[in-house]
Amino acid sequence: MSLTATQIISSLEKILDENSIIFTKEKMQSFLTEPRNRFHQPALAVLKPNSISQLQEIMRFANKYKIPIIPQGGNSGLVGGQVPLYGNELIVSLAKINKLRELNIEEGYILVEAGMILQQVQNIAREKNMLFPLSIGSKGSAQIGGILATNAGGAQVLSYGNGRELCLGIEAILADGSLYNGLKFLRKDNSGYDLNNLLIGSEGSLAIITAAKLKIFPRAKFYETALIGVKNLNIAYQLFQQLVKKAQKRLTAFELISRFGIAIQIENKLINQDFISLQSPYYILAEISHFDIEEKEILTQFFEIAYEKNLINEDSIIAQSMAERNEIWQMREQMSESQKFAGASIKHDISVAPKLVPELIERGIREVAKINKNIRPCPFGHMGDGNIHFNFSQPVKMEREEFLSLTKEINQIIYDIVLSLDGSISAEHGIGQLKIDLLERVKDPTAIKMMKLIKNSLDPNNILNRGKVLKL
Ligand SMILES: Cc1cc2nc3c(=O)[nH]c(=O)nc-3n(C[C@H](O)[C@H](O)[C@H](O)COP(=O)(O)OP(=O)(O)OC[C@H]3O[C@@H](n4cnc5c(N)ncnc54)[C@H](O)[C@@H]3O)c2cc1C
Repeated sequence: MSLTATQIISSLEKILDENSIIFTKEKMQSFLTEPRNRFHQPALAVLKPNSISQLQEIMRFANKYKIPIIPQGGNSGLVGGQVPLYGNELIVSLAKINKLRELNIEEGYILVEAGMILQQVQNIAREKNMLFPLSIGSKGSAQIGGILATNAGGAQVLSYGNGRELCLGIEAILADGSLYNGLKFLRKDNSGYDLNNLLIGSEGSLAIITAAKLKIFPRAKFYETALIGVKNLNIAYQLFQQLVKKAQKRLTAFELISRFGIAIQIENKLINQDFISLQSPYYILAEISHFDIEEKEILTQFFEIAYEKNLINEDSIIAQSMAERNEIWQMREQMSESQKFAGASIKHDISVAPKLVPELIERGIREVAKINKNIRPCPFGHMGDGNIHFNFSQPVKMEREEFLSLTKEINQIIYDIVLSLDGSISAEHGIGQLKIDLLERVKDPTAIKMMKLIKNSLDPNNILNRGKVLKL
C-alpha cells in the first residue's frame, strides 16, 4: 500500500516533534541546494531526528511503505548524492545527532556521532594537543557521517590516509531500521566480512552512519610549509620523489596549484597578493610536519640544493610564521570555490599513479585545446597521492551556455585519458547522481554485479538513496 504525501507527513508527526519536520519550500531550500547548484529537485520533507531511536523509527516506517530516503550531512557533497533525484524523497538530516561520546587520548581515538561537523572534531582534538588529520575545504560544514559515507580524502592522505584509514569503527542504521554496532575495535579480528569498510564509501546507499570512532594523533611540534614555483610538471614530480626520500611520512602534504587558480584569487582579492609574484606556471604546496623540536629543518636545506639544481623557481617561499602558513593553506583550500569567479567550469575529480600526473595533465590540456584553445585549464590537487581536480574554466569571450554545451566532449577526453592510464573516474567525491552512467560504463562488470547484489540484499526495497551510485 502506498501513502499520500499528507499521510506520510502526518505519520512522521507521530515520530518527530514539529521542529524536526520541515516541509515548506522556503525552509527546505538550503537542504536542496548543493555547492555547485546542479540539481534542482524538491523533496517531500526534511526530517531532523534528535536521536538514534527516532531515526530507527523513521527507517522502519519508510521501509514498510517503500518511501525513498536521502541521508544528508553537511550538504557539501559534489556529486548530488545528498539531494533529491525524483522530488518525492524524504531528506534525513543528521545535524542533531552530533554528540561527542568519548575522547580517549591514551588509545588515540575520538568517538563522535555522525552529525558532528569535521572542524569541531579537529577543534576537540586540538584542545588536547592532538590532531584529527583529515581536512578539506568544506571542513566547516561537512559532517563525520558524510565524510565517511563518501570516504573523503583531503590534503594529508599522503601521510595519514583517507576517511577509511582514519576510521576504527562505525555504528549505522540499516534500511529496515536495525542498528549495526561496528564500534568495537580490535587490532586482530577475522570474524567474518569487514562490514565497516563496506559501509564506508557507500554514499548513503547501504545504511545511515550514526557514529564513528576515529583515529587521532599527536600534533606536530612545528611545520615547514613552502609554496614552490616550478617550471613544469615533470620537475614537480621529481621534487616529490626527492622530498619523499628525505622526509618520508613527515611529508604530510604535496599539493599542486596552477597559476591560473592563484591568479583568480588575487584578482578577486581572496588572498593577500604580497607573498606571491606569480612567475611560475605551477606551484607546489609542500608541508613537512616535525614531531621532535630538536629535528633539523628539512625543507630549508632542501631549498638551497634544489635551487642550485634549477629545480625550483625564484618565486618559491617558505612560510616564516603560522600566519603565513595559514595564508598558503587558505589559498589551496579556496581553489575549488574561487573558480566560480572565472565563470562556468567543467570539473573532473580523477586519480592516476602519482608518476603519471604530468602525463595526465599535459595530455588533457593538449586535447581540450583542440576543441577551443581559449578554454582555461585549472588543474590542482593532491599530486602526492595522484588525485587531481582537473578543471576547465570558460574562455573569456565565450558565453557560459556555449561553454557548458562542451561538457560531454571534454568529459569524454579527460575520462578516456584517465582510463588509458589505468586511473579512477572518481577519486574523492564519489558517484552520487552525477557519475552513475559513467560508472556502469567503466567499472569491472563483475564488480558492478557484486555491488548490486549487496545493495539488493541490504536494502531490498531500494529506499536508501534510490537512483544514486548504482542503476538498479
Ligand atoms: C569547498 C569544498 C571542498 C571540498 N574538498 C574535498 C576534498 O578535498 N576531498 C574530498 O574528499 N571531498 C571534498 N569535498 C566534497 C565534500 O565536502 C565531501 O564529500 C564530504 O565528505 C561530504 O560531507 P557532508 O557531510 O557534507 O555530506 P553530504 O554532502 O551531506 O552527503 C554526501 C553523501 O554522503 C551521504 N551521507 C551523508 N551523511 C551520511 C550519513 N550519516 N550516513 C550515510 N550517508 C550519508 C549522502 O547521502 C551523500 O550521498 C569538498 C566540497 C567542497 C564544497
